[in-house]
Amino acid sequence: MHELSLIAGMMDLIRNSADKNQITQISRIKLVVGKLSMALPHSLSFAFETLAQEELFKDAELLIEEREICCQCQQCQQQYVAEMPSRLFCPYCGSSDTQMLTGRELFIEFYEGD
Ligand SMILES: [Zn+2]
Repeated sequence: MHELSLIAGMMDLIRNSADKNQITQISRIKLVVGKLSMALPHSLSFAFETLAQEELFKDAELLIEEREICCQCQQCQQQYVAEMPSRLFCPYCGSSDTQMLTGRELFIEFYEGD
């Protein structure tokens, strides 16, 4: 399961950072997940619940913000939200010369703890 390894990697990063900052208890973690990152929010939550058994994470709440796939057409400069990767063609002029602005991201926006 793809999400399990993503969450395991995220927890490693936070564990290292918390250690440096003398944080012993994480209270909240905010993840930003693009719709094209291929990670499903409910699978990420489930993976987190499964993995977060240790003291550092046991009271942590995982918040997930899902980002739309936003593109900009290089021909007519219009910006639009693409429902799925099949809609990467510009809906205004039909050009395939489009650039994705958001949608692939997957990162920790912040975490909080004491
Ligand atoms: Zn266009």
